Amino acid sequence: MPASVKLAVAAIGVLSALLLGMMFAVTGGDSDAASSAKQPGTSACVAGSGLRAGTVPNGWEADILAAAQTSGVPGPILAAQLEVESGWNPNAASTKGARGLAQFLPGTWQAYGQGSPTDPKAAIAAQGKYMAALLQAVSSVATSTGADKVVLALAAYNAGPGRITEYHGVPPFAETQAYVAKIPALAQQTYAGDCTQQAGGEVVVQVGPGQWASPLPGGILTSTFSMRWGVMHWGIDLAVAGGQVTAPTELLITWAGDHGDGYGTSVVGRTTDGTDLQMRFGHCAAGSTTLTTGSTAPAGSKLCDMGSTGDSTGPHLHFEIYTPGSPQNAYATSCGCAIDPLPILTGKGMSF
Ligand SMILES: [Zn+2]
Repeated sequence: MPASVKLAVAAIGVLSALLLGMMFAVTGGDSDAASSAKQPGTSACVAGSGLRAGTVPNGWEADILAAAQTSGVPGPILAAQLEVESGWNPNAASTKGARGLAQFLPGTWQAYGQGSPTDPKAAIAAQGKYMAALLQAVSSVATSTGADKVVLALAAYNAGPGRITEYHGVPPFAETQAYVAKIPALAQQTYAGDCTQQAGGEVVVQVGPGQWASPLPGGILTSTFSMRWGVMHWGIDLAVAGGQVTAPTELLITWAGDHGDGYGTSVVGRTTDGTDLQMRFGHCAAGSTTLTTGSTAPAGSKLCDMGSTGDSTGPHLHFEIYTPGSPQNAYATSCGCAIDPLPILTGKGMSF
């Protein structure tokens, strides 16, 4: 495709990522489990939907795209939810009386559905309407706890919205806990396409000579800087059992602690080697950092223990790099200054 078209497509991808990001007020949103070793976002997406081409059966992509627009829930999440609910079988029926692709109970169907719950198009449209209502229903719990709204809405779909209010979060039912863990992972692994057309492997910033330490020595790359579930993942994820988060190069610390922003216990610092990059290390174990603003962390020194605080469903390090001169403690979702850490790290002698 011509370069101009490519650019336009990339712009649309980033724009929709930004819009979705704002819609969900996701700041450090990162609900990926450390165990998901498969790298997402490596295949083409269905334009505008965030869905990986060829993964949604029977031409239902357009229906899912419409439901995503109705609800504000990323298309890959809705697709994964349908797989979990019915295995894509429009005639699926449960012993509790749930029917169709989206497994609506008769009372809920009466409120949100039109026609028959076994009509796939009607079922997906109703799924969008119901998820929109559930996002509204869980919004005060999400705001007061910092929990991911989409995860809470999924929990509400499984256990009923009253349970989210009752337990002030995802209720402690094994089935619901499994449901909210499985759907985002399945969305990432199977249904999310790469809509950004990132210039993969390109070095954006020259970081100068010398080697760096890995931000998580021994860590395995579990997620890349790419579109995920229809929204942009502004960093990379690394995970290893018992991981220690490490300063890749000397850092002047500008933030350490829990800011209630989705990143959990996190550390932010600027490189002192003249490159003036800003780095954010998210989801550290609670209380595992002793750093304070204004302190210096030498290259290779421990910043914190890998953890799962904030908006995270499994222990891992979420690592972001921002361009030189980016505003102090800026957020990737609003500053437009996050860059792909991977080529920088590999340029510094690391392999993942
Ligand atoms: Zn992440």
